[in-house]
Amino acid sequence: MATRPDTGKTPARRRTTKPKVAAPASCPVCKGDGTVSVPVMVGRGKQRRQVAAQDGMCLTCLGSGQSDATT
Ligand SMILES: [Zn+2]
Repeated sequence: MATRPDTGKTPARRRTTKPKVAAPASCPVCKGDGTVSVPVMVGRGKQRRQVAAQDGMCLTCLGSGQSDATT
């Protein structure tokens, strides 16, 4: 193992400033979660009411959580 002479300098580790890759915008519908709360409805007509909510895949981003700009 070769020991480096201690020059007192820290090795210049160049921090390359990469141009920030534009982070894909998170889906506005699911807030980047990929899932949305889907209401579970029961009853018919006026009796119809929401009894619960279940998680469902976001149909806007198809579960990726990212806003798809191609569409
Ligand atoms: Zn989404």
